[in-house]
Amino acid sequence: MNPIQMVDLNSQYNFIKEEVAHGMHEVLSSSLFINGPVVHEFQKDLENYLDVKHVIPCANGTDALQIALMGLKLQPGDEVITADFTFAATVEVISLLKLKPVLVDVNPNTFNIDPLAIEKAINPKTKAIIPVHLFGQSADMEQILALAKKHNLYVVEDNAQAIGADYTFSNGSVSKTGTLGDVSATSFFPSKNLGAYGDGGAIFTNDDNLAHFIRGIVNHGMYERYYHDVVGVNSRLDSLQAAVLKVKLKYLDFYNERRKEAALRYTKLLKDHHKIITPLRKSNCNSHVFHQYTLRIINSDRDALKNYLNDNKIPCGVYYPVPLHKQKAYAKANVDSSAFSVTNQLVKEVISLPMHSELSIDQIEYICDTIICFFD
Ligand SMILES: *Cc1c(COP(=O)(O)O)cnc(C)c1O
Repeated sequence: MNPIQMVDLNSQYNFIKEEVAHGMHEVLSSSLFINGPVVHEFQKDLENYLDVKHVIPCANGTDALQIALMGLKLQPGDEVITADFTFAATVEVISLLKLKPVLVDVNPNTFNIDPLAIEKAINPKTKAIIPVHLFGQSADMEQILALAKKHNLYVVEDNAQAIGADYTFSNGSVSKTGTLGDVSATSFFPSKNLGAYGDGGAIFTNDDNLAHFIRGIVNHGMYERYYHDVVGVNSRLDSLQAAVLKVKLKYLDFYNERRKEAALRYTKLLKDHHKIITPLRKSNCNSHVFHQYTLRIINSDRDALKNYLNDNKIPCGVYYPVPLHKQKAYAKANVDSSAFSVTNQLVKEVISLPMHSELSIDQIEYICDTIICFFD
């Protein structure tokens, strides 16, 4: 058995080495390192894959979120609702733009933002909701879109962990996550399901005017060279990264299928244990792309399990150990922590197992045997 890794980018690379080398060589010999033709080709390929009108590449996923919000022209003090249980980038950009982050609790079974909690948090200052499709599974978009429509709010999807996932509406129509709201942001950080060999990100939207506005924002607010109409940023996907992503996009469905197979195998081996809750796949989110495979460890010591796995050469992670409402940068003085009872519980229970497209059956079996051994 090969050593187990949390994410195995090297084996994945070995399969596509020649294609990547070819793509990179084209960039190197053209010297078109910025905005080379491959950036546009990747953009078009991704638009086709997602069935979305506009993909706007940028430098990373955090920029993508920030630029998406800038595109909506929100004003300082406007309230933006997002989940308490997620990576900090989402709340970070809200704060940077002097908007007011309003954190709400999540669903204990899916780890995704709770629509009922969103509804309670809506007030006349609320302008947008940012659902994060956490760990690779879509948030309850039908309910979130209905709330947004009712209260006239924007929906900005944080799709950094769910690229390639489908969402099925109750009428049977299916769309990719990241194409459901007004605008969405994704990350091509190397360990994401579609990862570059460095930083990268993109914004998606079906709105022509918003896409045009955002294309200026990513380029110093220019719509015509050296005429700066709005305050923008400099956020580009470089050509070498686009060359890698163009190759890897062809394999994204294959990578996601492999992740799903690994997840099903984990679940089969662990689901009957009374101290473990395996991740729920919701039927109306028919494709969970398992950016993470996250267990809840109940009535036991999650941290002791983590150490035990590490001692047995099994890497694992705790995503996330601290609720955002308790992070120093975002904690409010008089916050009522009981409003976040689910998140407060999850941070003590969650553990994410190795998850990538190259996990072997014997590795998965060894991981599950070791977990069960810990409880015996
Ligand atoms: C990775 C990630 C981001 C940030 O992406 P970067 O490319 O690292 O800036 C934002 N939101 C979520 C949910 C993420 O997982």
